[in-house]
Amino acid sequence: MSDGAPITPLDVEALRKEFPILARDAYGKRLVYLDSAASAQKPRAVIDAMTHSMEHSYANVHRGLHLLSNETTAAYEEARKTVATFLNAKSPDEIIFTSGGTDAFNLVSYAMGVGDIGEGDEIILSVAEHHSNIVPWHLLRERKGAVLKWLDVSDDGEVDLDAYRTLFTDKTKFVAISHMSNVLGATTPAKELAKIAHEHGAKILFDGCQAGVHGAVDVQDLDCDFYVLTGHKLYGPSGIGVLYGKMDALKALPPFKGGGEMIDMVTQETVTYNDPPHRFEAGTPPILEAIGLGASLNWMREKGVEAIAAHEARLKTHVLEELAKLNFVRVYGRAENKAPIIAFTVEGAHPHDISAILDRTGVAVRAGHHCAQPLMKRLGVSASARASFAAYNTHEDVEALIAGLHKTHQMLG
Ligand SMILES: *Cc1c(COP(=O)(O)O)cnc(C)c1O
Repeated sequence: MSDGAPITPLDVEALRKEFPILARDAYGKRLVYLDSAASAQKPRAVIDAMTHSMEHSYANVHRGLHLLSNETTAAYEEARKTVATFLNAKSPDEIIFTSGGTDAFNLVSYAMGVGDIGEGDEIILSVAEHHSNIVPWHLLRERKGAVLKWLDVSDDGEVDLDAYRTLFTDKTKFVAISHMSNVLGATTPAKELAKIAHEHGAKILFDGCQAGVHGAVDVQDLDCDFYVLTGHKLYGPSGIGVLYGKMDALKALPPFKGGGEMIDMVTQETVTYNDPPHRFEAGTPPILEAIGLGASLNWMREKGVEAIAAHEARLKTHVLEELAKLNFVRVYGRAENKAPIIAFTVEGAHPHDISAILDRTGVAVRAGHHCAQPLMKRLGVSASARASFAAYNTHEDVEALIAGLHKTHQMLG
């Protein structure tokens, strides 16, 4: 993915100053935000882009023929181009704005249910999926009689390509699988997964809600049919997601929601539909959020996606080394290509208590099943704590986490 050019290291202290929220404290202590895998904080560039639009250039998109509408439409469509460049899509027409990651999965599953998925057709998922890439497919199982086939993962979250191959039959229509686990941080061999799916005549969708944050994504190189991003984990606003679809895959999908903007012509008797991407953007879209997402992706590119990933890799190595010294902590997932998403448990402590005690030391981590109950079952735990790192985290944050865990162990262990 890197073209071999040297990576300019991140100036993390300067970068942190771009995030206004990082200046606040938590209970009088330095805020250590380690929950970016649930939602990332926003840089000034994103806040300013959205504020600027509301203060200077806001109207509804596409419909108007007046100055403000034209300017807003241009900004909205510019954001679509930014996403296309970010993913290396062939054309901005392959980028659909949704209201989030979850909305994108539902769009594809619902439209497929209206289309050609029927009784006995098979869909392959992995046990490491986020609920938002499971439940929409369960709906197709319940309503259409589709059959879900599950790909196991190793304790580290790695998939076995031979096991994957054996799941395909002549009934396999679709594969929906994460590009990176939000619990174990493992990256799946996406290019190989796509190649094998296509050899069996199936289409493939990647859940890139995490992978898009922690490294460069090239949908043409992956050769996937669909790819999903969510804005609020990409340092952008909530309320916006992206469904990338290869143009022929999008053309093959029937409309999902009906409304304004997705039509070509409506009469009392008939309706004809607009082409993608507009066919899938019924009604007034998340205008400000799309503009904010465009700003966040430009911000990421300006800092350097590879530079952010290199910084995060150093933090990951640091935190894993420190956690390995704590004999009362168990870490889940140690894949070679692991992202800085660290699920762990502390001996004798419920994850909710770990999180509550860490919180009082200023350290924000998540605790629970991380919307991945099948994976938790596979790992044999009901819940875990999770510390996740982003561009703005520092080695000081790692040390604060470790100090907080010592305290947790003293109090609960
Ligand atoms: C967050 C997340 C989702 C869901 O995205 P929303 O924006 O919350 O709808 C799906 N998959 C993964 C891997 C995620 O981390």
